[in-house]
Amino acid sequence: MDKRLEFNSMTLVELQELFLTLGEKKYRAEQFFRFLHAQKNFEIENLKQFSNTLIEKLKNEGFINKSTIYKRYESKIDNTKKYLIRLEDNRIIETVFMDYKTYTTVCISSQVGCRMGCSFCASTKENFKRNLTACEMLNQIYLIEKDLNLKITNVVIMGIGEPLDNYDNVLKFLNILNDERGKNLSLRNVTISTCGLVDNIYKLAKENLPITLTISLHNPFQKERSEIMPISNKYSIEEIIKACKFYFEKTKRRVSFEYTIIKGQNDSQKHAKELKRVLKDLNCHINIIPLNEIKEFDGISPDTKYIYIFKEKLKKLSLNATIRKKQGIDINGACGQLRQGVIEQES
Ligand code: SAH
Repeated sequence: MDKRLEFNSMTLVELQELFLTLGEKKYRAEQFFRFLHAQKNFEIENLKQFSNTLIEKLKNEGFINKSTIYKRYESKIDNTKKYLIRLEDNRIIETVFMDYKTYTTVCISSQVGCRMGCSFCASTKENFKRNLTACEMLNQIYLIEKDLNLKITNVVIMGIGEPLDNYDNVLKFLNILNDERGKNLSLRNVTISTCGLVDNIYKLAKENLPITLTISLHNPFQKERSEIMPISNKYSIEEIIKACKFYFEKTKRRVSFEYTIIKGQNDSQKHAKELKRVLKDLNCHINIIPLNEIKEFDGISPDTKYIYIFKEKLKKLSLNATIRKKQGIDINGACGQLRQGVIEQES
């Protein structure tokens, strides 16, 4: 990887500091920031407001990290599109665009691969390669906006990777995304999904950002959860719930829980009741996801009827739940189906 400064991963304050050390005016940094994040420009030569000398000076310090669209798949069932995005080191990540008519969402990846090892998830199968930098997360959004000529209104960090395992870069990404001189996206429209890295849930709560936090729970019994989610051996369900309460107290944002139903494994009345016990006195919402089958996991997706039956069980216990619609299932773009890839170096 290029070790020079990655200009499009720098916050406005960082760019301003850089320009001052280069003996340049502070307002130039803001012009550069707008060029990168409002105009979404990847070519430093296009900076017409800057003299050639300044452009050369900048080129000595760093570069603009470009990602490119390698491939786009379009669902025939809904309007979902899956993008394979090529990073500068030829690694491939996946990003999903979802059109909900009144708003548009992208589901972005935060890492190349994942080290969490959940048994049912495709993203972790080829292991962990590296973290994405802030601009590699931003580029996923910018590329889709340019490709479809529209504005993305919502961002969910639910693609490949565990966002709280790439904490600093994710925070920098949020800072830039939210900046009114750039994309200017409200953090109220951002959701972070985590398998439950408790220490970083506390850290995030203390940042006091209005982000929606969602926890991948999938099973309310500690032992059963640990069998499919190794992270559960490190942080218990009880610790996660405590951290969620803290998150709610700090941010006043209702926490959500994701519950992927694996037929016959976590959909009984016993599970519903334990879920109620675990989530008692927490202001929360449950998203039920039918398992999307992957070849490496032998769990079975429940029939639609059983998904509704489980939802009814939760309702009777006064638990709020919605069933997440499968999006882009025919293009392997649904929850847990995203994978990393690599393009062999062309010689
Ligand atoms: N690492 C983060 C975000 C990535 S996954 C996390 O664990 O939350 C986004 C959601 O899809 C998570 O709730 C995840 O558990 C779920 N998921 C993973 N594999 C799935 C599958 N095969 N079927 C349905 N949901 C799955």
